[in-house]
Amino acid sequence: MAQILDGKRVRDEILEELKPRIAQLSRKPGLAVVLVGNDPASEVYVGSKVKTCAELGMVSEKLTPSADISTDELLAIVQELNARPEIDGILVQMPLPKHVDTQRVLDAISPEKDVDGFHPTNVGNLSIGRPSPRPCTPSGVMELLRRAGIPVAGKHAVVVGRSDIVGKPMAMLLLHAHATVTVCHSRTADLAAECQRADILVGAIGRPAMLTRAHMKPGAVMIDVGINRLDKREDVVRIFGEGSDKVAAFDKRGSVLVGDMHPYDAAELSSHWTPVPGGVGPLTIAMLMVNTVEAAERRQV
Ligand code: NDP
Repeated sequence: MAQILDGKRVRDEILEELKPRIAQLSRKPGLAVVLVGNDPASEVYVGSKVKTCAELGMVSEKLTPSADISTDELLAIVQELNARPEIDGILVQMPLPKHVDTQRVLDAISPEKDVDGFHPTNVGNLSIGRPSPRPCTPSGVMELLRRAGIPVAGKHAVVVGRSDIVGKPMAMLLLHAHATVTVCHSRTADLAAECQRADILVGAIGRPAMLTRAHMKPGAVMIDVGINRLDKREDVVRIFGEGSDKVAAFDKRGSVLVGDMHPYDAAELSSHWTPVPGGVGPLTIAMLMVNTVEAAERRQV
């Protein structure tokens, strides 16, 4: 029987462990979150980040410039936050409006306050194994594996997806943990064959239930990073079948969240798997809090 990797439980453990560390600091850690415009999904994410800060007794500051802000104006906001001593972490919520030069904005964040781990300096630090803030979602996956006692060294890990925020750093963290790592993407010639070789399969694609039993080696650990919202009944029926519990959930709520893996196949074939929602998702904010506390610890010594 496959074991569920419960992200909410691990998130709560991580947050609980941060409390005494926060209490030891000479001042509360401060996180600034910049939310440009009013994308509803981004507002939800930022709301959860601010709420979690408050629950931990950390200071958060939400800046909400309008969607027509220029790159230069946004750079000025970032520079001001870089200069403020009581701000330990700066997060600019993605995606930014199309007219804004995202890379210039991310590059402007001081690497020591870059709690997302996206600054090129920190990407380089990750690559050469130096301590630095790690991208939150992949480092959350590593915590899930570590706390479940799942061995990584010597295992074959296959990561599907090569984005800068999930796939690439995920592959790098698994490599540092001594896995043999294969990274797949949209041009991979035989995706199912690559995935079938995985002892640890990570889906970070953004395509609902794309990885099915054809991609899964029985007994593998299956980590589903994908978060896809299905809001058409026919899509839910096509993927899961009439009469399935996903269709029943859709009929009740009008949409369902689905990962990149077919959850029935993952539950049947894996040794351990992460449900969507409730698997990897909760870890992202927990690791953001870890990065912010660590930035504060480094800056307050
Ligand atoms: P991106 O769109 O940036 O990257 C998707 C990757 O999947 C790309 O590398 C792409 O390949 C690859 N891909 C797309 N189609 C295929 C295919 N048919 N076969 C093989 N590979 C394919 O997405 P993100 O990395 O930002 O996010 C991935 C998923 O993770 C999304 O569902 C997102 O919502 C979720 N996510 C969840 C988080 C959480 O907190 N749990 C946080 C961040 C993201 P190529 O490079 O060739 O185009």
